[in-house]
Amino acid sequence: MKKTALVTGGSRGIGAAVVRKLCLDGFRVAINYNLSEQRANDLCSELCSEGFEVIALKCDVSSPDEVKRLFAEINKAFGGIDVLVNNAGISLWGLFDETTDAQWNEVIDINLKGTFNCCREALAYMLSEKQGRIINISSVWGQTGASCEAVYSASKAGIIGLTKALAKEYAPSNITVNCVSPGVIETDMMNRFSTEEKEAICEDIPFGRMGTPEEVASAVSFFASEQACYITGQVLGVNGGLV
Ligand code: NDP
Repeated sequence: MKKTALVTGGSRGIGAAVVRKLCLDGFRVAINYNLSEQRANDLCSELCSEGFEVIALKCDVSSPDEVKRLFAEINKAFGGIDVLVNNAGISLWGLFDETTDAQWNEVIDINLKGTFNCCREALAYMLSEKQGRIINISSVWGQTGASCEAVYSASKAGIIGLTKALAKEYAPSNITVNCVSPGVIETDMMNRFSTEEKEAICEDIPFGRMGTPEEVASAVSFFASEQACYITGQVLGVNGGLV
């Protein structure tokens, strides 16, 4: 029987590439979206017309109640979940000393607490099945820290700590927990930068270019695959040699 994967923030960018790759890998996929309903439904229709089993479900991952409802809907449609990809995230750019409480809360609530909310719900099912894969999307800035992205860096470093702890706690239950840590990837998240700024960023990347969402999706696909069954608690950088 086909296994089921959930990709949070799956309507666009890296998430959409992960959704497509996991479909090609043979998974039934639940696409989670929050604001991008049209894009989620378009992607869902496109993949269904290609013969893949896909559903699109709205949920703000920062809300524990909405996440509970999301998992109940997936359970009803597909009967549980085998692979969770915590991809939903937002960035924040600005001086740390000018950061407001509301900005801190929003980034931590979506990036870190959203990951916590989804891991907790997924684990309830995975534990009963004694198998599962959790793949968290961190960031190179969670590994190295980035100037003017302190809150974002903290949220992504938190995801790495959470990943390593969960890997140890749930390895005895045959559940792996790993991180994919992208470098600079060409998505909507980079729209705030001008062409000149993007060129300057690329000068610091040994590959001399940004990565693509598909290149990140390949790493996620690996952690979800049988080949990765004995790998847990790891952080796999997809960064063109940046770190
Ligand atoms: P995008 O800005 O293109 O997409 C962000 C995604 O997150 C959207 O699908 C959005 O869904 C979803 N999202 C945001 N808030 C919520 C929420 N509250 N609940 C559910 N979904 C939400 O970003 P990328 O594709 O570039 O980023 C994907 C992940 O990769 C993020 O975690 C990001 O931090 C990480 N990353 C990205 C890098 C890059 O250079 N692009 C580098 C390193 C890491 P919707 O539109 O429906 O609200």
